[in-house]
Amino acid sequence: MRYFLEQTAQYLYDNYGNRLRNHCLVFPNRRAGVFLLKHLSIVSGNPLWAPKTTTINDLFMSVSPYKTAPTEKLVVELFKLYRELAKKEETIDNFYFWGEMLLNDFDDVDKYLVNPEALFTNLKDLHDIDKKFGGLTEDQIKVIRRFIVNFREGEITDQKRDFEFNWSILLPLYISFKKRLRELGIAYEGMAERDLLEEDGAVSSKFRDFEKYHFIGFNALNNCEKKLMEILKSESKAEFYWDYAKTPFFEHNPRAALFVESNIKEFGQTLPLTASNTGSLPVVTIVDIPSDSGQAKLLPNIFKEMAIDTDPDNLHKTAVVLADENLLPALLSSIPPEITDINITMGYPFKMTVVYSLLRSLLSLQEIREVKEPHKVFFGHRKVLKILSNPLVVESTNGRAEDMAKQIISGNISFISPSFFGEDPFLALLFGVVGDTDKLCGYLRDIFISIAESRDGSDPLTAEFLFRANQMLNRLEPLFGDSSVNINKEVAIRLIDRIFREIKVPFRGEPLRGLQIMGILESRAIDFDNVIILSANEGVLPRSSPSSSYIPHNLREAFGLPVISHQDSIYDYYFTRLLTRAKNVVLVYNSSAEGMRSGEMSRFLLRLKYGNLVSPSFFSAKIGIRVGGGVGASIPRAQNDIRILEEKYIKGADRRPLSPSAINAWLNCGARFYYSYVCGMKETDRLVEGIEPAMMGTILHEVINRYYSPYVGEKISTPIMEELMKNKKGKRQLIDEVLREVWFGGEDNVPKTGNALIMADITEMFVDRVLEIDKSLAPFILIGLEQNFTKNLPINYSGNKESIIIGGKIDRIDQREGVKRLIDYKTGKSEPNISSIEDLFSGPPKKRNDAVTQTLIYCYLLSDEKGFALSRPVIYALRESNREKWDDTITIGKKPLDNFKEVETQFAELLTKTVEEIFDPSIPFALTTYDSSCSSCPYKKICKKQPF
Ligand code: SF4
Repeated sequence: MRYFLEQTAQYLYDNYGNRLRNHCLVFPNRRAGVFLLKHLSIVSGNPLWAPKTTTINDLFMSVSPYKTAPTEKLVVELFKLYRELAKKEETIDNFYFWGEMLLNDFDDVDKYLVNPEALFTNLKDLHDIDKKFGGLTEDQIKVIRRFIVNFREGEITDQKRDFEFNWSILLPLYISFKKRLRELGIAYEGMAERDLLEEDGAVSSKFRDFEKYHFIGFNALNNCEKKLMEILKSESKAEFYWDYAKTPFFEHNPRAALFVESNIKEFGQTLPLTASNTGSLPVVTIVDIPSDSGQAKLLPNIFKEMAIDTDPDNLHKTAVVLADENLLPALLSSIPPEITDINITMGYPFKMTVVYSLLRSLLSLQEIREVKEPHKVFFGHRKVLKILSNPLVVESTNGRAEDMAKQIISGNISFISPSFFGEDPFLALLFGVVGDTDKLCGYLRDIFISIAESRDGSDPLTAEFLFRANQMLNRLEPLFGDSSVNINKEVAIRLIDRIFREIKVPFRGEPLRGLQIMGILESRAIDFDNVIILSANEGVLPRSSPSSSYIPHNLREAFGLPVISHQDSIYDYYFTRLLTRAKNVVLVYNSSAEGMRSGEMSRFLLRLKYGNLVSPSFFSAKIGIRVGGGVGASIPRAQNDIRILEEKYIKGADRRPLSPSAINAWLNCGARFYYSYVCGMKETDRLVEGIEPAMMGTILHEVINRYYSPYVGEKISTPIMEELMKNKKGKRQLIDEVLREVWFGGEDNVPKTGNALIMADITEMFVDRVLEIDKSLAPFILIGLEQNFTKNLPINYSGNKESIIIGGKIDRIDQREGVKRLIDYKTGKSEPNISSIEDLFSGPPKKRNDAVTQTLIYCYLLSDEKGFALSRPVIYALRESNREKWDDTITIGKKPLDNFKEVETQFAELLTKTVEEIFDPSIPFALTTYDSSCSSCPYKKICKKQPF
């Protein structure tokens, strides 16, 4: 068996020898040309003047008067003309992807030499379509008529109206767009090809540099390619090498050879290929695994099973073909360590890189509507922390970024001024304020350059991503300065993000060494001994969705433009030919049916499974590989977990109190308790820039504290309350002071707009509510504010008597009518009613009441203290809207709880039992069985609890 390119090289050498220097070899892709030259040097055995190798696109462009232009330049030109023709106030970001789609359609129209006037017929003029376009075939006219009739049938919706309007301007848009590009001296591929072919005698006069053009390894051709080949053939200047013989694989599947057979009929076959050239049938294994990344992780095992020769000089005989390019990042991290040389020929999705994640965070940081006074700009902490924790930033700052993040978290700073970063030039660059659109690209580029310069070159992949990002920013920069497009900053941010999300970073390495990693299209014309195809799923191989087009399917079909069935045959051919000369083939598919994925193997695999050509072995990699799905119903309590809890709460030298929050966490979900109190995972994102109950609570507590602190130990009468309520100015000043300290890290220039203003207003509303309540209940003696209390709770622990310190901070204690009130302010939703004490410890989430449990624990803490024989828990539920009915008593089964002593014994028993369970080494950390509890859980991403 000899590879196709090897046989072609032999033929070329045998027939042309040294004369090949005057020949041009044309391939569907560059890599095939490199492989052919390698085979040529082997078959010649002597130094040889190499022929010219090129791709067909490059061949066209080499004789075109136009330069190829980047997509974004083309879309912007299209946008300007569309706006003029449509007379619509459209923004470029809304237009951009529609523009790209149109560009592809125009490219197809030109590559397939379609008459644009016939295709983009005005739907209203259709009655005389046959008279108007005499050149149309009967079938085309029928399809167009059917399309229009169907289109007009039924209700005229907004979408139909939009389509009709846009369709009506496509022809003038197509004409004026090409005119404009000619003026600029640029073109898209189809335009350059068509212009050349429509110019009389251009092919004959421009293709004179070579004695012959050899077209090697093509399959489906567009009409421009066909026409070029026809002209060159008619001048005896073309030879054709189709990789096709009636091998068992093609015999078995004639559909795959649809295009190639018709090409052979039309152009002939120069290379005499026969089935005997292709060797014996390969050994085929089909593997299923219920995960995408799991497919990549199987690679080392597959290599072992296939006994692949990992010598760099032989590895080029092995290809890993990715039907889904999104698997590339996972694949690269799964390459066995002994493989040091790899060659990637495919696009790496930029959106999966750490550079994109930084770009996105930076764009989000700059989403500031108006920057009139940059020194008054504050960034939300969440955005700042995200940037500070980006690995590129962490690596570039030698720990400075982490220090800053710690300061923000420990200082509870919600809004951060750029001045917070002081003199650090890199951090100042990151957190600079971009006022104008045309500065945006420069801002990002400076950051990427600075990061690139700080790196040591040990990670060439990231260096390449940074380089590509800068290249794209350089291309985009002139667009943002183009006054005729007039892009504002908001639009520019969206546009940059959308464009970068779609970028594929191309890799081109030294193809003749190392493991070959490629997409299915890059495998054209090349053969391998060992072929591993990943994502061989139905819907992926072949792709089930057609490429996006504005031209309806039946019109595409009528005018001979490619449609989905066209794509299926193309992929079938590539798949079939890849298997034809391989010795070992492993086909891996993802068997999990999630979202839009069916979990089915590709129809190409089914054909192998049920056909009688090869007998694939099947292997299921489900067992032993854990994918998603969370931790199960409970997390076992490991020895280390037991040790941590003992150290922290039972036996450690500086053991700490177990708080009401920890007890509530356990009662709500054992796993949540585990993540927070055993693993010590902090909810760092509790800092928020929006109006969030936790932050609201912190601010309110602080304001009330400062408001009442001068009165601790005093009797507060109704006149005092009236005085306090009158002092509106002082209250607002106090609120602003607390906001500045708690929310803005003590910065001056707190903005008087947006969230800060809303937060101040809401705080004031809650403060007023507390004052109103207190006025209605005055007089009372204020005993203490925000005081910590603890108490030892004896428990049984592993057969021994131990004690746990229970402790917490009580918002306020006062005395009214001889009863001590232990008060908790609640700004979130809170009901001061429960059905029973038991429900607090074992009820479903609707019946469990964290706020009541917490205040009862406070009462328990003080129940033995002198003067607390008469005490009761009180919740100031400040959201309670029914002010008239408001009461400060907690009810149990509708009965008011006037004194904690009434329930103390029962409460203490249940509390003891709960705390014993918390520390019981034999009890695992169970996940809650109530799915509703998980929606707001900060650990849900780690936990991944499956719904019960
Ligand atoms: S997501 Fe649900 S089960 Fe998991 S820790 Fe949070 S509350 Fe518990």
